[in-house]
Amino acid sequence: MNNIISNIRNLEKEKIIEILQYKDVNHLKLLNIARDIRNNGKFKNKAELRSVIEISNICSQKCKYCSIGNKKEGKFIQNKNDIIKKVRMLADKGRRTFLLQSGESKNQKFIDDISSCCEEIKNINSDIQIILCLGNLTKRQYKQLKDAGADRYVLKFETSNAEHHKFCRPSDNIENRLECINNLIDLDFKVGSGNIVGLPMQTLDNLYEDLVLINSLKLSMVSATKFIPNEFSEFRNYPAGDINLTLNFIAVLRILKPECLIPSTSSLSIDNKNGQYEGLMAGCNTVTIHDGTPKEFEKQFMIYSKDRFTPAEEFCRNIIKDASMIPENKLIL
Ligand code: SF4
Repeated sequence: MNNIISNIRNLEKEKIIEILQYKDVNHLKLLNIARDIRNNGKFKNKAELRSVIEISNICSQKCKYCSIGNKKEGKFIQNKNDIIKKVRMLADKGRRTFLLQSGESKNQKFIDDISSCCEEIKNINSDIQIILCLGNLTKRQYKQLKDAGADRYVLKFETSNAEHHKFCRPSDNIENRLECINNLIDLDFKVGSGNIVGLPMQTLDNLYEDLVLINSLKLSMVSATKFIPNEFSEFRNYPAGDINLTLNFIAVLRILKPECLIPSTSSLSIDNKNGQYEGLMAGCNTVTIHDGTPKEFEKQFMIYSKDRFTPAEEFCRNIIKDASMIPENKLIL
């Protein structure tokens, strides 16, 4: 146990694979170490509270674990004025970090509209942090969004092994994804990336490769979500990811990247109501409040399942308190 931190930071493969499989007492000790590292690091025990606004479910990718863009769900794009109105309303309540998320579309009119949203949001309050999660775009489009005021960008690689990536995301490939991540880093975005734990056919070696990749990138935010077999996706008949393994992976991430923000995502709470609290106990320090997307669109944004768990503010504040953390509306990154 004593050498866990050096085993992880030196990327010792056999040891890390052993650590990822910790159960019971060892699992709890690992989470304890991760929590201590978070609490003694840059952000102490502060937890960033974000609001997510899902702006469109139009997507040109066909990831096998997702059903966004599924014809049965219908398509939507939120109107710019509605987005600004929502941001203004939440900013009045004190919220300062907004995640604008959508399926992937390089449509220039769409990007122009989001750029103009970013400019208007920054005019509401210059303290507001804008995080975008819009998929692979051209470097020119990323620059346009950065120039318009976007601060951060989340682009998960999902799985780093080239063959496994192609199996899970047949319309893309890891080289292309990494080029986009590196373009974002070049443009000085604060970048977030990470993986999905428990994807079909994923091995422990693959998870180790994911850690090596994360370690090699200049990231400000890292993440691991748990695989959920979305009932309208191609992967619907595979088992869900294992919560113990996902929490161990998150704890290893925290030990590897003490200065990064790590979200405790709603994927952890699907079939485990304490999952997001447990994410905080594994070293996470970000929770996303789902109060920015109109109800009629929420059902059409099915990353995980039609039975989405969309945490409200009270839920987020309660798990932060239960984890002995302090909620933070203002920017901490
Ligand atoms: S996971 Fe993202 S990129 Fe892949 S299909 Fe779903 S919305 Fe599109």
